[in-house]
Amino acid sequence: MFGSTKHCTICGMDVKKEASVKRFGKYFCSDEHAQKYADVQMTRQQKDNDRGGGCCC
Ligand SMILES: [Zn+2]
Repeated sequence: MFGSTKHCTICGMDVKKEASVKRFGKYFCSDEHAQKYADVQMTRQQKDNDRGGGCCC
């Protein structure tokens, strides 16, 4: 047993640390899921903005 096993943030699958995709401080099983996480985060931010956050400029 070497290295450590992480879990994909999207699907929860076991991923070897060496083989994982790390983005935003999270681990993913594939680039695809890393991208999906980014999309979810972006969508969430857009919703927050729609809800009437102040305009910064
Ligand atoms: Zn995954």
